[in-house]
Amino acid sequence: MSGSSRSEQERLVAVQGLAWLEAANRENFERICRLAATLFQVPTVLITVVETHRQWFLGQVGFDAPEAPIETSFGAHALAQREVMQVHDARLDPRFSSHPLVVAPEGVRFYAGAPLYDRYGHGLGSLCLIDKRPRRLEPEQIVALQDFAEMVMVQVDQCQLLKYRDPLRHLTNLQQSRVDTSSPPNGSLLAMIGAEAAEQLARLCVAACADNAQDTVKRRAQRLLDDFPHALANGEVHLEYQPRFNLLNGHMVSAEALIGWRHPTLGKLSPSEFIPLIEGSGNISMVTRWLIDRALGDLASCVDRDVRLALNLSPLDFQNLDIAQALQDACKRHDIEFMRLEVEITEGAWVKADPQIIRQLTTVRALGVDVAIDDFGTGYSNFAYLHEIPANVLKLDQSLVTDLEHSPRKRIIAQTVFELARKLGYRTVAEGIETFRCLRLVREYGCDEGQGYFMSRPLALERFKRHCGEVPLAFHPSDVPPQGAFGQLSSN
Ligand code: C2E
Ligand code: MG
Ligand code: MG
Repeated sequence: MSGSSRSEQERLVAVQGLAWLEAANRENFERICRLAATLFQVPTVLITVVETHRQWFLGQVGFDAPEAPIETSFGAHALAQREVMQVHDARLDPRFSSHPLVVAPEGVRFYAGAPLYDRYGHGLGSLCLIDKRPRRLEPEQIVALQDFAEMVMVQVDQCQLLKYRDPLRHLTNLQQSRVDTSSPPNGSLLAMIGAEAAEQLARLCVAACADNAQDTVKRRAQRLLDDFPHALANGEVHLEYQPRFNLLNGHMVSAEALIGWRHPTLGKLSPSEFIPLIEGSGNISMVTRWLIDRALGDLASCVDRDVRLALNLSPLDFQNLDIAQALQDACKRHDIEFMRLEVEITEGAWVKADPQIIRQLTTVRALGVDVAIDDFGTGYSNFAYLHEIPANVLKLDQSLVTDLEHSPRKRIIAQTVFELARKLGYRTVAEGIETFRCLRLVREYGCDEGQGYFMSRPLALERFKRHCGEVPLAFHPSDVPPQGAFGQLSSN
């Protein structure tokens, strides 16, 4: 076997190692594409994985097909070189001028691809920018594109590590490792060294890989847990408020309180990272008590007495706290009417399974507090037993809303959910609206309220209060947004 065909074969083994990602959740890769499309102002961004006869897309914006034949791949050319490959005007480039995608009306004119290399130097594919008009990247844009390619590879590495972790117990996933050592392309390994040795190898690989990843993950988790009580006491933990809007008249109707943590050395931390850790440690009620008191105190300091507030609760709060009582006490302390509050719970088997939770939620509703099902459309979401939960608001999860305009599947799901939810008497909310087209679509589907970066990011209290008082937040619900109306909403 020649050196080049051996290295191509090694490359294909590395590419094959990504095959499982084709069916996995690739939301973060999509995010990188969306970010790149915005930064470079191009309609199409693809993260390609180049196999022998086809290329498939790990992430994509502005191009719907899941794969393409290798003959139509610019990416295969990009792979052949280490640097960013640019085709400034494909019609003038003899390599591509007769390419079907180039000669087509509105065809490809500009292409820039940064090759994606794994840590062993195998070229896996490329991150490419495509435009319908000729262009030329500036030197600093070329560096930025290479940085984006690095980000893609970091994400690939993380996905590979997570694959070997049991999602529930956070332990090493030996089963996955067995599957990998016995299936192609590693099946040949099994044939060579025998089943027993392959099993031992799987255990060794898993131990080495997981030890490393787990140690880092565990050390960080422990550090966050150790630091949190101090952070809560000294003001590192804070609340931000993300406005929610009536989609018919564009007025702000409420805001969701979102907890944040500015760690002195680790920087800004997302609640998606630290809240599950605190839940796991059994201390979430301490956070919820703090949240209720702080958020209602903030609400009381708003001049606008009509503004309403939504609070996220954890399933464990219902075991450790009397939520209705905690809300009653805080409302009395801060002189807030119950009707100005909403609690958000993630729907799941846990709600239905525990009659005590249903009783607590019924009491909360009876006070006049709204109960919202958060993140509907993920996990156990199920209309069949939704009626058993005393909720009156339904929030469609952002994974089904963001990028709706580019996904026919998401559009069908969103339209159906909003229609059914409305018929069942729920007030509906779309969260994760990032573009005007998305806003228009959910409004067309009959959704009542919307929340998302397009209208406003979460705001610090002072800024939120200013909008409640002096400069009311509102967007224009007609087809064309008025000039500058969103500029003031989206900055933090
Ligand atoms: P959630 O309740 O679904 O909150 C919405 C999340 O989506 C927030 O992230 C918000 O910043 C983000 N978001 C809003 N609009 C957009 C958009 O247009 N695009 C995108 N990509 N994201 C958008 P955040 O602040 O990171 O919160 C994550 C989750 O953490 C929340 O999800 C909630 O489950 C939990 N959480 C936040 N605050 C608290 C809290 O005080 N208590 C509890 N128990 N959980 C909380
Ligand atoms: Mg929420
Ligand atoms: Mg949500």
